[in-house]
Amino acid sequence: MAEFDVAIVGAGFAGMYMLHRVRGLGLTARVFEAGSGVGGTWYWNRYPGARCDVESMQYSYQFSDELQQEWNWTERYATQPEILEYANHVADRFDLRGDIQFDTRVAAATWDEKGDRWTVRTDAGDECSARFLVMATGCLSSANTPDFPGRDSFEGATYHTGRWPHEGVDFTGQRVGVIGTGSSAIQSIPIIAAQAAQLYVFQRTASYSVPAGNRPLSDDEIRAVKDDYDAFRAFNSLMPTAIGSKQPIPEVSALGIAPEERDRIYEARWEEGGLPFLGAFIDLLFSPEANDTAAEFVRAKIRATVHDPKVADLLAPKTVIGCKRLCVDTGYFATFNRPNVELVDVSETPISEITAHGLRVADRDFEVDAIVFATGFDAMTGALLSIDIRGRDGRQLRDAWEAGPRTYLGLGTVGFPNFFTISGPGSPSVLTNMIVSIEQHVEWISDCIEYLRDNGFERIEATPDAQDAWVDHVNMIADFTLFPSCNSWYLGANVPGKPRVFMPLLGFPPYVEKCNEVAAKGYEGFALSTASDGH
Ligand SMILES: Cc1cc2nc3c(=O)[nH]c(=O)nc-3n(C[C@H](O)[C@H](O)[C@H](O)COP(=O)(O)OP(=O)(O)OC[C@H]3O[C@@H](n4cnc5c(N)ncnc54)[C@H](O)[C@@H]3O)c2cc1C
Repeated sequence: MAEFDVAIVGAGFAGMYMLHRVRGLGLTARVFEAGSGVGGTWYWNRYPGARCDVESMQYSYQFSDELQQEWNWTERYATQPEILEYANHVADRFDLRGDIQFDTRVAAATWDEKGDRWTVRTDAGDECSARFLVMATGCLSSANTPDFPGRDSFEGATYHTGRWPHEGVDFTGQRVGVIGTGSSAIQSIPIIAAQAAQLYVFQRTASYSVPAGNRPLSDDEIRAVKDDYDAFRAFNSLMPTAIGSKQPIPEVSALGIAPEERDRIYEARWEEGGLPFLGAFIDLLFSPEANDTAAEFVRAKIRATVHDPKVADLLAPKTVIGCKRLCVDTGYFATFNRPNVELVDVSETPISEITAHGLRVADRDFEVDAIVFATGFDAMTGALLSIDIRGRDGRQLRDAWEAGPRTYLGLGTVGFPNFFTISGPGSPSVLTNMIVSIEQHVEWISDCIEYLRDNGFERIEATPDAQDAWVDHVNMIADFTLFPSCNSWYLGANVPGKPRVFMPLLGFPPYVEKCNEVAAKGYEGFALSTASDGH
């Protein structure tokens, strides 16, 4: 059996950087990747309109100054092909491919108590052994396709946005049904609508979306950032989401100023575009009344854009803004003014059946040539729990997390020695610029592995006390916020039967401080042992 110091599952931005770092420690590593190439999210999500919604100058690695200086983004928000090209550039530049095994899905991983090692088994039945197992499996990589009755009876083409065909899809002249109105739907619908003869959009819950304000990046803008990229990164990392903005840092409550001034601030952020809209005031994610001022501002924008008042009303969300992931769009709401686009409200009367020729809602049949499932992901835990992971005493991760994920810092979990999760539940993860969170985790994990090696430790595992306290802390922070107030994928609410637990942690800077403190105190809250006292 092949032996490595570190086995890494996934070759997205997390797995690629993890490989680079452990190689830098002189360790041997093998990365397993189910896809045929690097890039993870950007390898799989090739739907029309796919692009990042954190600005490209921020949504990129910062670990190598040469890399960030030499790479040039062409647009404020890069397209999926450009981000994938970037991922491939990174793989080539750091010569990563030699240690990545593509087209290989990890099916199982078992902790071997006697050898203090993980045995990793692939879907082809191959096995290898590694001292450490790092899960870089992605928070949004396990595509979720609801089990509509009759789903397999449809005779036309079906697509999931997260598993889009590499050759692309041309919908010209077709009748198309898009199920879902989350981020991927909001990015793809304007483009599909421009191609299709007829587009039906099946909406269960309306989403808030702000304009991207996308545009080509000028040389001057790029130069201004590159001239002091470190300062730009450092400033952005101080934001709760690790996402920076040119707008002033908020200092007041949305309720503490005159309504006209408040609207002026919202308008400036709306014009600027993008996710920082939600950072306009200090209390938008904490106070329902404050939140409603932002929600109402966006609802008014929707009403002003969409001509048919009934459609505008359906598209205007009634929930807390930001409670589900805020979307960023280019022409989404205006698309509903097109004569070939119809919004179908399935909030009260769900899709009852998929038939051979389309979809049925109540007693109406919608005949379509193609169905696009923009139904998102089994977020944060889906990819992890689809692997048969067995830790100490043969305990399955699925059992340990039966009532919801339990971790210490989102990095380790009790009962699973030498096992790390990158951007795992209980860390800021999906509430941040994820490349920043990924780099922070990768560096923490590689520093930890180095510490263990240099101090003669063979294994590390979170302690129950530290984990319990951390889970309480994550829940307490969530309960301070408005996040638990709606059915979101942050809570697992989009997957039937999934425990309802708010999985990420709000607040990047205090989290980083905590991680650094834990490391500085010799990995406080983790039990470290040598082989001799381990068994
Ligand atoms: C459409 C879309 C847009 C996004 N836009 C943004 C954005 O603008 N800003 C932002 O911060 N984040 C964004 N995200 C989140 C995005 O997932 C992260 O930014 C980042 O790309 C995650 O990298 P990762 O390496 O952790 O995971 P991924 O990129 O998901 O990579 C995980 C890899 O692991 C592989 N894998 C999983 N299980 C197994 C297994 N059992 N065996 C082998 N391989 C396995 C998968 O095939 C995948 O390639 C977006 C996500 C989506 C879906």
